[in-house]
Amino acid sequence: MTIIDLRSDTVTQPTPAMREAMAKANVGDDVYGEDSTVNQLQELAAEILGKDAGLFLPSGTMGNLISVLAHCGRGDEVILGNQAHIFRYEAGGISALGGVHSHQIPNQKNGTLLLEDIEEAIRWDDPHEPVTRLIALENTQNKCGGIVLSQDYIDQVGDFAKERGLALHLDGARLFNAAAASTSSAQELASPFDSLTFCLSKGLSAPVGSVLCGSRDFIKKAHRLRKQLGGGMRQAGILAAAGIVALEEMVDRLGEDHLRARKLAKGLASVPGLILDEGTPYTNMIFMSLAEHIEYSGEKIEAHLREKYGIRVGLTGPRSFRLVLHYWINDEDVEKTIDAFKKLLG
Ligand SMILES: *Cc1c(COP(=O)(O)O)cnc(C)c1O
Repeated sequence: MTIIDLRSDTVTQPTPAMREAMAKANVGDDVYGEDSTVNQLQELAAEILGKDAGLFLPSGTMGNLISVLAHCGRGDEVILGNQAHIFRYEAGGISALGGVHSHQIPNQKNGTLLLEDIEEAIRWDDPHEPVTRLIALENTQNKCGGIVLSQDYIDQVGDFAKERGLALHLDGARLFNAAAASTSSAQELASPFDSLTFCLSKGLSAPVGSVLCGSRDFIKKAHRLRKQLGGGMRQAGILAAAGIVALEEMVDRLGEDHLRARKLAKGLASVPGLILDEGTPYTNMIFMSLAEHIEYSGEKIEAHLREKYGIRVGLTGPRSFRLVLHYWINDEDVEKTIDAFKKLLG
């Protein structure tokens, strides 16, 4: 049985072109700065995003952690959304390892943080209070349905952060999905931010890694923090080679995943037992839940799809699901998935 894995875009396997580039990669000791393939990836990423420099990292979580630690000292505060990946899914690393205090404010339905909420969260210059240093945004905003933050909005937050003397970080794990769904380029969407990370290993299909971009001084600081956290890698060009293919060949096709997400959503919306979240899909993710009259649990349905049809879906609650489109899901898989849900619930 072929598996149709819709749980996440992290399940993507490297492409044949990536495996070939990995086998042929020139490598060296990257801790000495001597891996030419890593250097090439870092320069390419920085150039695409209009920043001075880049740093190759084993994960996006490490990229966010390093960024928060570079911008904030112990006891300092970062303002971020209560649906931010940094807040929800990074094991509290910024506080556990950096002693950084997080100040969560609500993400609106459209993924944004209200400027007035940010304003109110900024601390007074008073010895009772922590020092506010950083605002962090996420684009696309995963827990808000993979929605895109608009250029207009991020420019406003950028101006605001500058006025208030705060640094601005972007968790851009899916920044290229945001660009594919927006009239702005990835570089434009990156422009208001002092630092940003993006994942090579999600929709871009590379096996491992993220790149952190920012000013030369920032990346110098980040380089030392990467070493402190045990993230200095040696002949990492083997991995970076796949990242270069990801940036050169996989960015321009992300719109296809968004198109397939809409096709799949349209089909699923016609299944009587399913209720799609309002607005879904914004990019490559579909969020939906079971109608009240369906007596099966989400777990039962997940298991049935997996065992009987080889279809894997993500459970996001007792009766709700997330389905994510990516390079390894084709039109036939979309049809098969719609048919399977129809057979189960229709
Ligand atoms: C995946 C993801 C990350 C980083 O995840 P890693 O698995 O550590 O690479 C960060 N932010 C968001 C929004 C993500 O989806």
